[in-house]
Amino acid sequence: MSEPATSRATELVGNGHPALFVDGAWVHSADGGVRHSGNPATGEVVATVDEATPQDAAAAVAAARRAFDTGPWPATPVTERTALLRRIAGLLARDKEALARLETLDTGKTLEESRWDIDDVVSVFTYYADLMATEADRLIDVGDPQVISRVVREPVGVCVMIAPWNYPLLQISWKIAPALAAGCTMVLKPSEVTPLSTIALTRLIDEAGVPAGVVNLVQGSGAVLGEALTDTDDVDLISFTGGLATGRTIGRIAANRVTRAAVELGGKNPHIVFADAEWESSVDQVLTGAFLHSGQVCSAGTRLIVQAGIADDFVAALVERAEKIRLGDGLDPASQTGPLVSAEQLAKIEGYVELGQAEGAVLRTGGQRPKDAELADGFFYLPTIFDHCDRSMRIVQEETFGPILTVERFETVEQAIALGNDTAYGLAGAVRTSDPAVAERVARALRHGTIWINDFGYYTAAAEWGGFKKSGNGRELGPTGLAEYQEIKHIWQHT
Ligand code: NAD
Repeated sequence: MSEPATSRATELVGNGHPALFVDGAWVHSADGGVRHSGNPATGEVVATVDEATPQDAAAAVAAARRAFDTGPWPATPVTERTALLRRIAGLLARDKEALARLETLDTGKTLEESRWDIDDVVSVFTYYADLMATEADRLIDVGDPQVISRVVREPVGVCVMIAPWNYPLLQISWKIAPALAAGCTMVLKPSEVTPLSTIALTRLIDEAGVPAGVVNLVQGSGAVLGEALTDTDDVDLISFTGGLATGRTIGRIAANRVTRAAVELGGKNPHIVFADAEWESSVDQVLTGAFLHSGQVCSAGTRLIVQAGIADDFVAALVERAEKIRLGDGLDPASQTGPLVSAEQLAKIEGYVELGQAEGAVLRTGGQRPKDAELADGFFYLPTIFDHCDRSMRIVQEETFGPILTVERFETVEQAIALGNDTAYGLAGAVRTSDPAVAERVARALRHGTIWINDFGYYTAAAEWGGFKKSGNGRELGPTGLAEYQEIKHIWQHT
């Protein structure tokens, strides 16, 4: 990491300076509270960030409400809104290295992964600028020449955006870009575990010239701020990405208020490998799918479902390769995988490994922290593979959100489909086979929002992302991701 990127990262976060952005101004929290943000690879404190009070959160919501009700933004011509999105994309690209550093310091993921995230964030802002520029009213022929019937789209209003810690900048950008394009105002609340990159993004959005009150930022614990952010009629839409339990809480509040709520939740994603699948790419992608970012990925392929005839050899190949994955500080280019994000997450994974053994799964590799002295202060955990698992085990059914891969075996296509759907979640899944008919049959039968055929983990800003079943109720990205932030109005005009 170059010196300029390091000092730019410090500048962007404004360490020691206010970290809340309300009504166009950087402010400290009302009671002076702060939280120390640590590097999960070393345990060192990397920044001290203001911790908002519920009063700060209410002030941010009020600012967004004022900016929507009286400000110019909702009625700003589309060309100006899309120009702002393009300026933000340009600034993100300019500060890519600094942003990647912040993301790695906060999450522990490797710099390479953080750079992919920043590239994707740039493409999301560009995509929504392009899409919004082409949006047109829908004209309807009602069979009367004296009537003009039009369906128009308008911004939904004040949006509260609550994000998780695994992809801090990416997840919140999937919300901000379409919301800004649509003309909404907003309050951002990143995870308290990973505050830094959203501070930097807000600084860049401010630099790009967003009017005061359109984008507000509060930092802090969801449990403390949640009510002020969600249980109010001043908010028109809550867009949440995170865990199922929090999603349920938010859903209940939103239902009571009749507030729109889009919740993007967890996954327990099957990776189905048939005996005729191409071997090398299958081994590669099953490993990456399970262990990228130490498995802290909502769409991680944590359930390997492999055809019985190749299962023993395939698992042996995975074990051999998993044991060679180099764990280390994400800032070190030699590291292939970073640590877990926090001590809490590490304890959770240790608990699941104990549970898996108690449930009778066969531990083939991992199942402990690495022994290397230089990793001792970080929250590292070895890639772990449990073989001979079955549906009755909690490690097969629950989202562990860590480097744990479970292995189940199947004989027939029907069994593969049944196992692939044998989860309360429905976020993503993959099928690998050289038979296109089988691939198509399985892809269509799986009840998940994204399916990869002979590939894993890819997505594009232009295609919808979201879950079936307990993985959520909304869609981000693509045209539907813009529609989430729009109200639809029918105008019937007699001429
Ligand atoms: P989490 O639910 O604990 O927290 C998510 C966010 O909600 C945080 O900002 C947190 O502060 C906030 N929060 C907590 N309680 C709240 C409350 N009562 N009211 C309002 N906000 C509250 O989730 P996490 O541990 O940060 O993230 C991991 C989860 O996110 C996993 O389940 C993962 O699968 C999911 N995830 C899903 C997607 C997707 O696209 N579907 C993407 C990334 C992560």
